[in-house]
Amino acid sequence: MKLMEQKILREGQILPGDILKVGSFLNQNIDTDLLGEMGREIARLYDGAGVTKILTIEASGIAIAAAAGLSMGVPVLFAKKHRTSNVDGDVYVTKVHSFTHNEDYAVVVSRDYLLPSDRVLLVDDFLANGNALRGLIDLCNQADAELVGVAIAIEKCFSGAGDQMRAEGVRIDSLAQIESMTENGIVFRS
Ligand code: 5GP
Repeated sequence: MKLMEQKILREGQILPGDILKVGSFLNQNIDTDLLGEMGREIARLYDGAGVTKILTIEASGIAIAAAAGLSMGVPVLFAKKHRTSNVDGDVYVTKVHSFTHNEDYAVVVSRDYLLPSDRVLLVDDFLANGNALRGLIDLCNQADAELVGVAIAIEKCFSGAGDQMRAEGVRIDSLAQIESMTENGIVFRS
Protein backbone atom coordinates (compact mmCIF):
# COMPACT_ATOMS: atom_id res chain seq x y z
CA MET A 1 0.00 0.00 0.00
CA LYS A 2 1.81 3.07 -1.30
CA LEU A 3 0.22 5.44 1.21
CA MET A 4 1.58 3.39 4.10
CA GLU A 5 5.05 3.20 2.58
CA GLN A 6 5.12 6.98 2.07
CA LYS A 7 4.01 7.54 5.65
CA ILE A 8 6.73 5.20 6.97
CA LEU A 9 9.38 6.99 4.89
CA ARG A 10 8.21 10.41 6.05
CA GLU A 11 7.49 9.75 9.72
CA GLY A 12 8.93 6.37 10.78
CA GLN A 13 11.91 6.43 13.12
CA ILE A 14 14.37 3.56 13.35
CA LEU A 15 15.25 2.77 16.96
CA PRO A 16 17.92 0.43 18.35
CA GLY A 17 16.90 -3.24 18.32
CA ASP A 18 15.34 -3.11 14.86
CA ILE A 19 12.30 -1.27 16.15
CA LEU A 20 10.42 1.06 13.84
CA LYS A 21 8.62 3.79 15.74
CA VAL A 22 5.35 4.79 14.10
CA GLY A 23 3.78 6.60 17.04
CA SER A 24 2.98 9.66 14.93
CA PHE A 25 0.44 7.84 12.76
CA LEU A 26 -0.29 4.34 14.06
CA ASN A 27 0.81 3.40 17.56
CA GLN A 28 -0.11 6.47 19.56
CA ASN A 29 -1.36 9.32 17.43
CA ILE A 30 -3.60 7.70 14.82
CA ASP A 31 -3.95 9.10 11.30
CA THR A 32 -7.62 8.30 10.74
CA ASP A 33 -7.48 8.89 6.98
CA LEU A 34 -4.73 6.29 6.73
CA LEU A 35 -6.59 4.01 9.16
CA GLY A 36 -9.72 4.16 6.98
CA GLU A 37 -7.64 3.33 3.91
CA MET A 38 -6.09 0.39 5.74
CA GLY A 39 -9.50 -0.93 6.68
CA ARG A 40 -10.77 -0.63 3.10
CA GLU A 41 -7.64 -2.28 1.69
CA ILE A 42 -7.93 -5.24 4.09
CA ALA A 43 -11.63 -5.55 3.18
CA ARG A 44 -10.70 -5.52 -0.52
CA LEU A 45 -8.05 -8.21 -0.04
CA TYR A 46 -10.45 -10.50 1.83
CA ASP A 47 -13.57 -9.77 -0.20
CA GLY A 48 -15.45 -13.03 -0.70
CA ALA A 49 -13.22 -15.01 1.68
CA GLY A 50 -16.10 -15.65 4.08
CA VAL A 51 -14.50 -14.06 7.14
CA THR A 52 -16.88 -14.07 10.12
CA LYS A 53 -14.57 -12.58 12.75
CA ILE A 54 -11.42 -10.54 13.07
CA LEU A 55 -9.06 -11.44 15.89
CA THR A 56 -6.28 -9.17 17.09
CA ILE A 57 -4.21 -8.61 20.22
CA GLU A 58 -4.29 -5.59 22.50
CA ALA A 59 -3.39 -2.84 22.29
CA SER A 60 -2.06 -1.54 19.00
CA GLY A 61 -3.81 -4.07 16.77
CA ILE A 62 -7.25 -2.95 17.93
CA ALA A 63 -7.62 0.24 15.87
CA ILE A 64 -6.56 -1.48 12.64
CA ALA A 65 -8.79 -4.46 13.35
CA ALA A 66 -11.73 -2.15 14.07
CA ALA A 67 -11.17 -0.26 10.80
CA ALA A 68 -11.10 -3.56 8.89
CA GLY A 69 -14.13 -4.86 10.79
CA LEU A 70 -16.12 -1.72 9.93
CA SER A 71 -15.24 -2.04 6.24
CA MET A 72 -15.99 -5.77 6.19
CA GLY A 73 -19.07 -5.69 8.38
CA VAL A 74 -17.73 -8.32 10.77
CA PRO A 75 -17.14 -8.24 14.55
CA VAL A 76 -13.72 -7.69 16.06
CA LEU A 77 -12.36 -9.67 18.98
CA PHE A 78 -9.18 -8.73 20.79
CA ALA A 79 -7.10 -11.08 22.89
CA LYS A 80 -6.02 -9.63 26.22
CA LYS A 81 -2.52 -9.71 27.64
CA HIS A 82 -1.86 -10.81 31.21
CA ARG A 83 1.45 -10.65 33.05
CA THR A 84 0.92 -13.95 34.88
CA SER A 85 0.17 -17.29 33.27
CA ASN A 86 -2.36 -18.13 36.04
CA VAL A 87 -5.49 -17.07 34.26
CA ASP A 88 -8.78 -18.50 35.50
CA GLY A 89 -12.15 -18.78 33.88
CA ASP A 90 -13.73 -20.01 30.71
CA VAL A 91 -10.93 -18.86 28.42
CA TYR A 92 -8.40 -20.02 25.88
CA VAL A 93 -4.85 -19.10 26.92
CA THR A 94 -1.56 -19.10 25.08
CA LYS A 95 1.93 -17.78 25.83
CA VAL A 96 3.54 -15.07 23.69
CA HIS A 97 7.02 -13.57 23.84
CA SER A 98 6.85 -9.80 23.45
CA PHE A 99 9.15 -8.33 20.82
CA THR A 100 9.09 -4.83 22.28
CA HIS A 101 9.25 -5.74 26.01
CA ASN A 102 11.32 -8.94 25.74
CA GLU A 103 9.18 -10.87 28.20
CA ASP A 104 6.56 -13.61 28.06
CA TYR A 105 2.94 -12.96 28.82
CA ALA A 106 -0.31 -14.87 28.70
CA VAL A 107 -2.75 -14.01 25.92
CA VAL A 108 -6.37 -14.79 26.59
CA VAL A 109 -9.77 -14.80 24.88
CA SER A 110 -13.10 -15.84 26.28
CA ARG A 111 -14.45 -19.16 24.97
CA ASP A 112 -17.77 -17.39 24.45
CA TYR A 113 -16.38 -15.15 21.71
CA LEU A 114 -14.24 -17.48 19.57
CA LEU A 115 -16.32 -20.30 18.13
CA PRO A 116 -15.72 -23.44 16.04
CA SER A 117 -18.03 -21.90 13.42
CA ASP A 118 -15.78 -18.84 13.04
CA ARG A 119 -13.71 -18.16 9.94
CA VAL A 120 -11.03 -15.88 11.33
CA LEU A 121 -8.90 -13.10 9.89
CA LEU A 122 -5.99 -12.16 12.16
CA VAL A 123 -4.92 -8.51 12.16
CA ASP A 124 -1.94 -6.84 13.81
CA ASP A 125 0.19 -3.74 13.45
CA PHE A 126 3.60 -5.43 13.04
CA LEU A 127 4.92 -8.81 12.04
CA ALA A 128 8.48 -9.29 13.29
CA ASN A 129 9.41 -12.73 14.65
CA GLY A 130 5.86 -14.04 14.38
CA ASN A 131 5.32 -14.78 18.07
CA ALA A 132 2.16 -12.71 18.41
CA LEU A 133 0.70 -14.33 15.29
CA ARG A 134 1.60 -17.84 16.37
CA GLY A 135 -0.12 -17.15 19.70
CA LEU A 136 -3.29 -15.98 17.94
CA ILE A 137 -3.20 -19.01 15.64
CA ASP A 138 -2.89 -21.23 18.72
CA LEU A 139 -6.02 -19.59 20.18
CA CYS A 140 -7.90 -20.29 16.91
CA ASN A 141 -6.74 -23.91 16.98
CA GLN A 142 -7.86 -24.31 20.59
CA ALA A 143 -11.30 -22.99 19.60
CA ASP A 144 -11.42 -25.17 16.45
CA ALA A 145 -12.00 -21.96 14.51
CA GLU A 146 -10.80 -21.79 10.92
CA LEU A 147 -7.92 -19.46 10.03
CA VAL A 148 -8.65 -17.65 6.76
CA GLY A 149 -5.62 -15.38 6.70
CA VAL A 150 -3.56 -12.66 8.30
CA ALA A 151 -3.52 -8.93 7.55
CA ILE A 152 -0.55 -6.96 8.87
CA ALA A 153 0.09 -3.22 8.65
CA ILE A 154 3.90 -3.44 8.60
CA GLU A 155 5.89 -6.63 8.02
CA LYS A 156 9.59 -6.62 8.82
CA CYS A 157 10.53 -9.15 6.12
CA PHE A 158 14.17 -9.28 7.21
CA SER A 159 13.15 -11.32 10.27
CA GLY A 160 12.02 -14.12 7.93
CA ALA A 161 9.02 -15.12 10.06
CA GLY A 162 6.38 -14.00 7.56
CA ASP A 163 7.93 -15.97 4.72
CA GLN A 164 8.38 -18.98 7.01
CA MET A 165 4.69 -18.91 7.91
CA ARG A 166 3.71 -18.48 4.25
CA ALA A 167 5.78 -21.57 3.49
CA GLU A 168 3.76 -23.35 6.17
CA GLY A 169 0.60 -22.45 4.24
CA VAL A 170 -0.64 -19.38 6.12
CA ARG A 171 -2.03 -16.61 3.92
CA ILE A 172 -0.39 -13.34 5.00
CA ASP A 173 -1.10 -9.95 3.43
CA SER A 174 1.02 -7.04 4.59
CA LEU A 175 0.21 -3.44 3.70
CA ALA A 176 3.90 -2.49 3.82
CA GLN A 177 6.79 -4.94 3.63
CA ILE A 178 10.15 -3.72 4.87
CA GLU A 179 13.00 -5.64 3.26
CA SER A 180 15.74 -3.76 5.08
CA MET A 181 15.96 -1.02 7.65
CA THR A 182 19.37 0.56 8.30
CA GLU A 183 20.91 3.97 8.94
CA ASN A 184 20.98 4.28 5.13
CA GLY A 185 17.21 4.11 5.02
CA ILE A 186 14.26 1.81 4.55
CA VAL A 187 13.85 -0.45 1.53
CA PHE A 188 10.46 -1.99 0.75
CA ARG A 189 9.83 -5.31 -0.95
CA SER A 190 8.65 -4.65 -4.47
P1 5GP B 1 6.42 -10.53 16.74
O1 5GP B 1 5.55 -11.22 17.74
O2 5GP B 1 6.01 -10.80 15.32
O3 5GP B 1 7.88 -10.71 16.98
O4 5GP B 1 6.19 -8.97 16.97
C1 5GP B 1 4.94 -8.41 16.72
C2 5GP B 1 4.48 -7.54 17.86
O5 5GP B 1 5.55 -6.79 18.41
C3 5GP B 1 3.46 -6.55 17.34
O6 5GP B 1 2.22 -6.84 17.96
C4 5GP B 1 3.99 -5.19 17.71
O7 5GP B 1 3.19 -4.64 18.72
C5 5GP B 1 5.37 -5.41 18.24
N1 5GP B 1 6.42 -4.96 17.30
C6 5GP B 1 7.30 -5.75 16.62
N2 5GP B 1 8.16 -5.01 15.92
C7 5GP B 1 7.82 -3.73 16.12
C8 5GP B 1 8.36 -2.49 15.66
O8 5GP B 1 9.34 -2.41 14.90
N3 5GP B 1 7.73 -1.35 16.08
C9 5GP B 1 6.66 -1.38 16.92
N4 5GP B 1 6.11 -0.21 17.27
N5 5GP B 1 6.14 -2.54 17.39
C10 5GP B 1 6.71 -3.69 17.00
